[in-house]
Amino acid sequence: MSMIENDYLCPKCKGHLNVSESLVFATKTHRKHKGLILLSPKVGEYKYKHHPKFQLEKGEKVEFYCPLCQVDLTSTKNKDHAMIYMVADEDNFEYELYFSKIAGKQSTYLVAHDSVEAFGDDVIDFEDLMYE
Ligand SMILES: [Zn+2]
Repeated sequence: MSMIENDYLCPKCKGHLNVSESLVFATKTHRKHKGLILLSPKVGEYKYKHHPKFQLEKGEKVEFYCPLCQVDLTSTKNKDHAMIYMVADEDNFEYELYFSKIAGKQSTYLVAHDSVEAFGDDVIDFEDLMYE
């Protein structure tokens, strides 16, 4: 499935987080630096765009906020992951999309009911992740 034509929504305000071919987030680093980050919705692509004055250190934990309603997107199930909704273009089905808040860590999960797809070099068993 093409991830680019899907819609990505804030779980609180249901505002659209995708613009052009990026997902837009307001973020704050562990060092309290704030900046906008653009992530690719393509699975397996972990490059991100940012202002040159806003740099992430590898391994640094980053807080992700909705740029529209400012809600903290941290998953209630695992504090090292953020969660947003993905609405599939094909069938309008709503998935939960979890991604790591640690810079450089490649860990993404796409969850629908009891089916889980995991992507990235750093994924672990989703059940372990959610109940650790
Ligand atoms: Zn929001």
